[in-house]
Amino acid sequence: MSRYWSELARGLSPYVPGEQPRIPGLVKLNTNESPFGPSPMAIEAVRLAAADTLRLYPDPQSTHLREVLAEYHGVAPEQVFVGNGSDEVLAHAFAGLLKQPKPVLFPDVTYSFYPVYCRLLGIDHETVPLDGEMRVCIADYLDRGGSIIIANPNAPTGIALSRAEVEHLVSERADAPVVIDEAYVDFGADSAIPLIRDHPNLLVVQTLSKSRALAGLRVGYAIGDQVLIEGLTRVKDSFNSYPLGRPAQAGAIAAIQDEAYFQQKRSIIIGNRESLTAALIQLGFDVLPSSANFVFVRHPSHTGQALSAALRERAVLVRHFSGARVSDFIRITIGSKVELDRLTEALAEFLASPM
Ligand code: PMP
Repeated sequence: MSRYWSELARGLSPYVPGEQPRIPGLVKLNTNESPFGPSPMAIEAVRLAAADTLRLYPDPQSTHLREVLAEYHGVAPEQVFVGNGSDEVLAHAFAGLLKQPKPVLFPDVTYSFYPVYCRLLGIDHETVPLDGEMRVCIADYLDRGGSIIIANPNAPTGIALSRAEVEHLVSERADAPVVIDEAYVDFGADSAIPLIRDHPNLLVVQTLSKSRALAGLRVGYAIGDQVLIEGLTRVKDSFNSYPLGRPAQAGAIAAIQDEAYFQQKRSIIIGNRESLTAALIQLGFDVLPSSANFVFVRHPSHTGQALSAALRERAVLVRHFSGARVSDFIRITIGSKVELDRLTEALAEFLASPM
């Protein structure tokens, strides 16, 4: 530890993201990436942007991308904010909206980055336990002050709230900003975007990393009332003026416009999730009902750590989390059929081996 470090730097511990090893033949089901490439139109748009325009600075407002997103979601361009991945958008939402006099509320368990932002930005937070079935219970958020952020579907459980539940939350808590992080919404949950018209406290955050298979391009966005978007833009313009690069803006536009490719790939992933769920139940697993591109599962006879270690020995990588409510589970990303067959074969072999 350096004596030159600030108090903030001293108090921080590294955020541990999912591993990104480069081992040939490894089945990588640990970070919820798409098993498919992005739309060929997006790849071509990135290539063209790189070939023709890289010497030029990008449009700092991402005007065309925001227009395309606005049209796609049926809102005005002034209601769209874009960032380098939804992680950056969320950082601005924490700083510009969620930091309020009362602590921000989010579920325990949820996306592990939320407490990291709070620590970094000096925001007090309180966690609200999931119910006995690992669901977010809206009633628990109604009688307390404080802003709210909820991932829907939640991570790492994959369980989704209905649009009616989100509507109940944003109407009952009209006193505070409510951020709904919809990183995984395209895999079977209802987006809260249609609620924005009547709920000026609601900000919905989405990403192109999952259902559009563009995790490497880093594009995320938020949609909300124009006044909320102005709040985010204020924060961004005051300390982070980095716009999206030209390839990112061009690739994102093409990916949003290639609706046929998007629909085809997401329905394959949903189909694979249903087949995997059935196969895991056959193997004795308890599978939480997922609306995401992953499943959160546990086995009555083995800890999550033992399962993930056994899979790793068989060249299959899944995610295991520590913590009282989650350590029995493993989170498995929905890969291709071939990858999921490798996973279920590895699990069957492990479960059949003498303990
Ligand atoms: N929200 C949730 C719930 C996530 O799981 C992730 C990805 N790990 C993100 C946001 C951030 O995704 P990205 O920055 O790639 O858009």
